[in-house]
Amino acid sequence: MRFDILTIFPQLLDSPLEEGIIRRAVAAGKISVNIHDIRDFALDKHTMTDDRPFGGGEGMVMKPEPIAAALSSIKETKPDARVIFLSPQGETYTQRTAERLATHEHLILLCGRYEGVDERIRAYYVDEEISIGDFILTGGELAAMVLIDSVTRLLPGVLGCGDSAENDTFSCGLLKNPQYTRPRDYDGHTVPEVLLSGDHAAIAEWRLVTSVRQTLEKRPELLGRAVFTKEELQILKMNSLLEAVEKYRNIQQ
Ligand code: SAM
Repeated sequence: MRFDILTIFPQLLDSPLEEGIIRRAVAAGKISVNIHDIRDFALDKHTMTDDRPFGGGEGMVMKPEPIAAALSSIKETKPDARVIFLSPQGETYTQRTAERLATHEHLILLCGRYEGVDERIRAYYVDEEISIGDFILTGGELAAMVLIDSVTRLLPGVLGCGDSAENDTFSCGLLKNPQYTRPRDYDGHTVPEVLLSGDHAAIAEWRLVTSVRQTLEKRPELLGRAVFTKEELQILKMNSLLEAVEKYRNIQQ
């Protein structure tokens, strides 16, 4: 999968690509990330990429011509690339959005700065506007990295363990069960015995029950999307969780 990022601060994006799973995904050719400095497409000798807003008001607005020129230079060879504008006014980003975007071969991510981008770019060049939450960042670069990180880990072969992403929080309508590692006893706080038992069926049951309990406690609205097998419903019933789960599932339907 290919990502092209349009920014006026290209260096901001270097280090997140140089560590961990994302670095390995780049090295293995699972993704390629091309960072474009919008200033390189500025028309004047001062490489101006912003100007004062028409009608007055605070701050500066990113000019349309350099952004349009940067987009055209990429689209010349890749006309089907999807253009995403990171913007607080966009649709709120979720795991579902990440799953949908992971099916695309090529995304262009436009990062705004200052008061934002000239509206004509949004209206005529952008396919989709995405917000990473109801708060204001100083620029779209961190939002672009959030998107790249979350999409990349969904691509086949990127995570070490094949099914890690499927069982993650948000993927199946449940929060992930609590996790423990060594030592068994940390400062008097011990690991649940069942996890040390080697009994795989009992461990699977514990994971389901704790996952459902956590979801009920922290994010019950997610349960509307959860799908359970007959056996799992039986386990929930035995643990007195079925009634509470059904209540939230019915609310969502
Ligand atoms: N004046 C704009 C407004 O009120 O809608 C906010 C501009 S913000 C300071 C500058 C840039 O940061 C935006 O153009 C956008 O690219 C990025 N940005 C800010 N908050 C964001 C968010 N929640 N999600 C995605 N991008 C965001």
